[in-house]
Amino acid sequence: MSPTPSSPPVVILGAGLTGLSAAYHLQGVPRVLVERAAVVGGKARSERVRGHTFDITGHWLHLRDPRMQALVARLFADHQETTLARIDRVTRVFSHGALLAYPFQANLHGLPLEIVQECLVELVAARERAARGEGEAPASFEEFAVARFGKGIARHFFVPYNTKLWGMNPDQLTADWVSRFIPIPDTAQIIGGAIGLRQEGLGYNAHFLYPKTGGIDHLPRALRRAGVDGREEAELLLDTALEELDVTGRRVKLTGEGDWREYGALISSVPLPELIKRTPGAPAEVRAAASRLRWVRWRYLNVGTRAPVPVDYHWVYVPELRYPFFRVGVFSNAVSSMAPAGRASLYVELNAREGPVDERAVAAGLAEIGAVRRVEDIAFMDVREVEYAYVVFDDAYASSTKTIHDWLARVGVRSCGRYGAWIYNSMEDSMIQGLEAASWAKDQVARGAAR
Ligand SMILES: Cc1cc2nc3c(=O)[nH]c(=O)nc-3n(C[C@H](O)[C@H](O)[C@H](O)COP(=O)(O)OP(=O)(O)OC[C@H]3O[C@@H](n4cnc5c(N)ncnc54)[C@H](O)[C@@H]3O)c2cc1C
Repeated sequence: MSPTPSSPPVVILGAGLTGLSAAYHLQGVPRVLVERAAVVGGKARSERVRGHTFDITGHWLHLRDPRMQALVARLFADHQETTLARIDRVTRVFSHGALLAYPFQANLHGLPLEIVQECLVELVAARERAARGEGEAPASFEEFAVARFGKGIARHFFVPYNTKLWGMNPDQLTADWVSRFIPIPDTAQIIGGAIGLRQEGLGYNAHFLYPKTGGIDHLPRALRRAGVDGREEAELLLDTALEELDVTGRRVKLTGEGDWREYGALISSVPLPELIKRTPGAPAEVRAAASRLRWVRWRYLNVGTRAPVPVDYHWVYVPELRYPFFRVGVFSNAVSSMAPAGRASLYVELNAREGPVDERAVAAGLAEIGAVRRVEDIAFMDVREVEYAYVVFDDAYASSTKTIHDWLARVGVRSCGRYGAWIYNSMEDSMIQGLEAASWAKDQVARGAAR
């Protein structure tokens, strides 16, 4: 299986967690990791501002796969700078002036009684309809929420929250992405939560891991150290982007390089529309499919305070449309080192993706939901943007992604990771995709050597 000396290397595009994991799991195989940015990590990066540390909004590490648990344990076992803390998730929902336990659908207690009643009556109606086998399979995410939880819970949480998060009404989204991420409590849990029996620990992420210091980018940096640095057969090219992909010649052109580079196998974690744009040989139907892909940009604020915050949660969901944000998180409530003593580091995920940010409205909203004690406690707010945040699961999603992936598979390109596969996933999923891509690439290289 080991490559012949003359076989071209595996080329890995993108040094986020997918690309880094692929490089790590290709040990012994010549590989080139190509990253457009000046540092590795992709979305799992942290920045330091005036003694505060911020990730690209919340990046909490939930591990379920034993292979990833073992990998992360190994990476941090002999880490020089930090270790991992295991943190019990504290999340809340702010609605109608009340701070509810998460998830909303299982913790209605605290809402005005007429809203609790509306939610329960509609829930019972929805579950009775389901028991009678009535109703079609939900076509949209909104229909999914109404069918599972009733119109009241949909109206007071799922529809407004997701309208803010996605920047579009959830009747334009399919329900394809939700199954793993939305807890579906049974009727007893919902009624218990409505009368004050707190329903916690529901959902896939009841606890998470997080570096004790320095933010999430200790994870990609540790992967880089273990999988790439100082390895003779591994090359890392930073500040270098894919310019053009020639699938027939099995070669890539990179920025700043006159010559083509041949590859023995190609793994790409570059966003799918970008990859196809840089592949002139892609057939017309693949280009057309790529032009139908939609995604959501993200705009958020890094907020540093000059005083402690009066809340203990790690993040809070804010569904009501009158607030200009839909989620607020407090890094320093997870690990205190994320902010200087007596201060806090927050992220605020904004509804509006365009135009000037109304910082006064944001500050007033933060004070109103109790995330800060007073507006004056806010020391600074920095706006940040993410071009590719969430891929949009609309009606064209399934057929467009199938057309593109089928063709890429035929021409021997492995497009994976959150934006390469064009899916909704977690850091753990991305590292698993990198591992699987590495095993695919070893196979490709072996076949090439046998030819
Ligand atoms: C707002 C937000 C919050 C999230 N919160 C969590 C969370 O709490 N927990 C969790 O587990 N997951 C979370 N995730 C998901 C997590 O960030 C991803 O699963 C993971 O980081 C994706 O890794 P990736 O390598 O696939 O993609 P990326 O991290 O996007 O890496 C792709 C890399 O490719 C590079 N690149 C792009 N174009 C080119 C080019 N032409 N040439 C060369 N390089 C290129 C980019 O610079 C980037 O470094 C969140 C994601 C977002 C957007």
